[in-house]
Amino acid sequence: MHDRVYKTEEEWRQQLTPEQYRVMREKGTEPPYTGLWWNHQGEGLYCCVGCGSTLFSSKTKFDSGTGWPSFWAALNPGHLAHHEDRSYFLRRTEVSCSRCGAHLGHVFDDGPPPTGLRFCVNSAALAFEPEDQVREEGLSAPAYE
Ligand SMILES: [Zn+2]
Repeated sequence: MHDRVYKTEEEWRQQLTPEQYRVMREKGTEPPYTGLWWNHQGEGLYCCVGCGSTLFSSKTKFDSGTGWPSFWAALNPGHLAHHEDRSYFLRRTEVSCSRCGAHLGHVFDDGPPPTGLRFCVNSAALAFEPEDQVREEGLSAPAYE
């Protein structure tokens, strides 16, 4: 397991864009069909903008029609943390990065087979590493410092 990343809110503010900060540290949600990745094709890995932890693979990405990047499985379940979210009078399961605590989105149980899960994630919390780049550089060093 990788090390936890702890930063002050001030440090996060300096590292992240205002939109990234709003989503990842204040549990905001970006408007649908506006993010970088909802309609993104291409082979590679989606990583946490906050700490570089690998979260999702393009192999499990699917078009959910929601306007947010959607995945039916986590790349490594240990890289995600789940919390019950009762805001807005709904019961949802919030998903965050287990390494740096960044809010990512929610997971629902109406996804496609084989898992039946739908991870609905904000583009603002994700960075994309194309597969050829992943092969060349390996996954050891976070590229988002
Ligand atoms: Zn993270």
